[in-house]
Amino acid sequence: MGNLSMQHQGKLFRHWIPGQGEVIANVAEGGAEDINRAVAAARKAFDEGPWPKMTAYERQKILLCFADLLEQHNDELAALEAWDSGKPYQQAATDEIPMVIRLMRYYAGWADKIHGLTAPANGPFHMQTLHEPIGVAGGIIPWNFPLLMFSWKVGPALACGNTIVLKPAEQTPLTALVAAKLLHEAGLPPGVLNVIPGYGPTAGAALASHMDVDKLAFTGSTETGKIVLELATKSNMKPVTLELGGKSPFIVCEDADIDEAVELAHFALFFNQGQCCCAGSRTFVHESIYDEFVEKAKQRALKRSVGDPFKEGTEQGPQIDTEQFKKILKYIKSGVECGATLESGGERLGDKGYYIKPTVFSNVKDDMLIAKDEIFGPVQTILKFKDLDEVIRRANAAHYGLAAGIFSKNIDTINKLTLALRVGTVWVNCYDVFDAAIPFGGYKMSGHGREKGMYSLENYLQVKSVCTPLVNPAW
Ligand code: NAD
Repeated sequence: MGNLSMQHQGKLFRHWIPGQGEVIANVAEGGAEDINRAVAAARKAFDEGPWPKMTAYERQKILLCFADLLEQHNDELAALEAWDSGKPYQQAATDEIPMVIRLMRYYAGWADKIHGLTAPANGPFHMQTLHEPIGVAGGIIPWNFPLLMFSWKVGPALACGNTIVLKPAEQTPLTALVAAKLLHEAGLPPGVLNVIPGYGPTAGAALASHMDVDKLAFTGSTETGKIVLELATKSNMKPVTLELGGKSPFIVCEDADIDEAVELAHFALFFNQGQCCCAGSRTFVHESIYDEFVEKAKQRALKRSVGDPFKEGTEQGPQIDTEQFKKILKYIKSGVECGATLESGGERLGDKGYYIKPTVFSNVKDDMLIAKDEIFGPVQTILKFKDLDEVIRRANAAHYGLAAGIFSKNIDTINKLTLALRVGTVWVNCYDVFDAAIPFGGYKMSGHGREKGMYSLENYLQVKSVCTPLVNPAW
């Protein structure tokens, strides 16, 4: 991997495989000045065109060509994602990059289907609405699914005819830079997409508070979400969509097939090193099957293969950085100190890299920190429940409301839980199933608004009402 350079203020930050110390690229660090220049370029490209003035069909062709180029570079992008974030290469190559491609094709499909409506007027007028691009969009994204989060912002923004300035997470800037290069190869005009790697309090804050950014889409922690919302409000009151944290319940009912439930609950929590906003991080298990479930969950965790992200069969790579690594170990310590039973793991694996042994806690109580906070690591907490009303109350007690999993064969149980849970996504007898056409977002402190699907288009459009007198022979 060579140097990925750009115009910048001169500072560089180096990048390496998480915890292994190997430098793979030098990436320019963008600051507030770079954000100003990027916003000016995006504004010029929006005001002067050609992007928003092109026909929707022309824009669609460019987005489809980009999706084809992504497909051609699937393995290279997956390798960059694995180097940059430590996630298993196979996961990136067979799940994540194909999801990005599907999402870009989905939004390319929308480009020429975005239009307003005509309404019957109470008088001799032609009443219509025009759906117009909102202008210059800003995007701030996290490190856990770098290219996927890029596509959730860039796909709908470009399909609607906007220009965009995107700040990837400082830990994982590589795939966004390569994707920007591919988009330009596909024919995207200059200034339409501007990727500025940099840190949150400098580049991110400059973007959130910029007076000439018309809309902001943020994915990251709830703590940072509050900061960017305030910056956006105090500057030009730009509308903000927020995709934030979670502490999602995964509910295993008494009629469940225990082996299947154990496997799915394991996947729901440990996928992507446990670094998922929607991780099933509170595993609620009915008391009648609790002991058997715990023993099997422990055995499954002990079998999980942790190690080199590029080795075939690796299920879990290193955590993203030293900060997250230490935070997770601290949570594990607090779980032990609070009296939860440590069934497996509980410590780092080896002495190089940020690897953590898959950790399972049983006898977890609702008021323990490990049951309340988003750990964002490979730590499964298993709680016991007696009846449905009780588990609904406890599941909904969290400040978060991102997602939930239900494992049951009883349709009445499934319906009761689905309706009662205050979350943005319910997975029934499955987990982490995403589709470009289905929206994602949170209730409560898990965020504002929805991304993906047709819902995301609204985030990037203005609606103009137009009223024109009809030619009337009586006038
Ligand atoms: P984070 O909030 O620290 O960072 C996210 C982004 O915000 C990064 O690009 C960062 O540079 C930027 N940022 C940090 N401080 C900023 C500031 N003061 N002003 C502007 N920007 C700033 O989150 P993270 O640690 O990178 O990601 C993990 C979090 O993201 C978890 O809490 C997880 O739940 C959440 N997440 C949510 C979703 C979702 O769709 N709901 C998806 C993925 C991750």
